[in-house]
Amino acid sequence: MPQSAESSILLREAGLRPTSARRRVLSSLQTAGRSLSHRELVDLLRGLDRVTIFRSLKNLKKARLVHSVQGIDRTLRYFINPAEKRGCPGGHPHFLCLACGGMSCLSDQQIAIVRVPRGAEVRGKQLLVYGVCPSCASSKRARPAPRTNRGETK
Ligand SMILES: [Zn+2]
Ligand SMILES: [Zn+2]
Repeated sequence: MPQSAESSILLREAGLRPTSARRRVLSSLQTAGRSLSHRELVDLLRGLDRVTIFRSLKNLKKARLVHSVQGIDRTLRYFINPAEKRGCPGGHPHFLCLACGGMSCLSDQQIAIVRVPRGAEVRGKQLLVYGVCPSCASSKRARPAPRTNRGETK
């Protein structure tokens, strides 16, 4: 099935109108097979303005077709939700490579259940493990992880 047809079905099932922007954003995330940031999507999806892409991501997230994780570099990365995880607000850890900026879902693992104050409304939770990914670690050009606590002043 072509990606765009598949995206339309996913969108309809999630109760979203399959607009061309939503279809294109969803297809890009499906095809990428990895996380994409808003900036990467803007570069990929020529002809769609940044605000439209941002709104699409927001709707896709609300419909739980995608989830997002913020790296320690403060960049939000978006992932397509695997079919069996739709409806789950991201209960798995992620790994961020400090060398290439790539992030991967560790969706075969669970984040521990955390008790929150009574009456609190949970919007999501995240556990980010960071370091150097296997391909950067094996690359001779890989640089050591950036020093922490430097340049972090606001
Ligand atoms: Zn890497
Ligand atoms: Zn994930």
